[in-house]
Amino acid sequence: TEATPVVGRFAPSPTGRMHAGNIYAALIAWLVAKSQGGRMVLRIEDLDRERSKAAYIDQIQRDFEALGLFWDEGPYFQHDRDEAYAEAFARLEAQGLLYPCFCTRADLHAASAPHRGEKLIYAGTCRHLLAAEVEARRAAGRTPGWRAAVDGRMIAFEDLVQGYYAQKLDRDCGDFLIRRSDGAFAYQLAVVVDDAAQGVNSVVRGVDLLCSTPQQRYLQDLLGLPHPAYAHVPLLVAEQDRRLSKRDRDAALDELLARFGSPRAVIGHIAAVAGLVPEEAPATPEELLKDFSLERFRDGLPDLVQIPWRS
Ligand code: GLU
Repeated sequence: TEATPVVGRFAPSPTGRMHAGNIYAALIAWLVAKSQGGRMVLRIEDLDRERSKAAYIDQIQRDFEALGLFWDEGPYFQHDRDEAYAEAFARLEAQGLLYPCFCTRADLHAASAPHRGEKLIYAGTCRHLLAAEVEARRAAGRTPGWRAAVDGRMIAFEDLVQGYYAQKLDRDCGDFLIRRSDGAFAYQLAVVVDDAAQGVNSVVRGVDLLCSTPQQRYLQDLLGLPHPAYAHVPLLVAEQDRRLSKRDRDAALDELLARFGSPRAVIGHIAAVAGLVPEEAPATPEELLKDFSLERFRDGLPDLVQIPWRS
């Protein structure tokens, strides 16, 4: 029997130009797919209509191409996908798993427990509202978001970089948002629906999303969708624990291009900082592919969580 072809993805949010952290994660995603003879999908994650800018959508595609991070399919856009998200929403609702939540951000912080410093666990305040209470809030002009109820099940899986990871959903995750009060579908739902529809079976992304993966696997279970393989790579960090962001000018792609002179030099530098190659030298992703395997990459990581950025 023939093995299923590997399909990975780039899933950038077009809220700014790329920086070294984004490029590093994208490079590993590309190498993981290509080293297994797979292909890459480009999906523009523009769910957040306010922060997503058309100029960044174009720029990101030009940047990927200039860096040699070529995709084979797409771009797909989340702004085109409301129908598919609504259909998944309806299927969850039909299972009795969704409830309206009127909590404001302030309510959430007041009523939720911080958990392992990672995220807030929703206290379930709106889970047991009576129909009359829901009606009263609606009559007062309040629009709810929608949450998926979780139970005490354990979601466990083997991450290809991080190893065994598990969450007990009620304790470690809590009821989570599926649709926001402004009508936008939440990231957790969109990503699960899109990965399945686009045939993505290899998800490589930053370790900051590891704690979201049980939510996504739970939704895959409920919707009868296959589980992709997951590999969560370390984050490039500016200082202890602070992931690189648009604020870190020395990691911004325009700065890197100005400083190193060419996309090949930028890729070579990021590969060296991340320990992917022993010696810094200009390289294309294609050239890095020759010596890449996921196992070797994982075994060579000095730290599974963070890698200090130095420019
Ligand atoms: N769009 C997300 C980001 O740019 C990535 C989501 C994912 O990889 O699942 O951070």
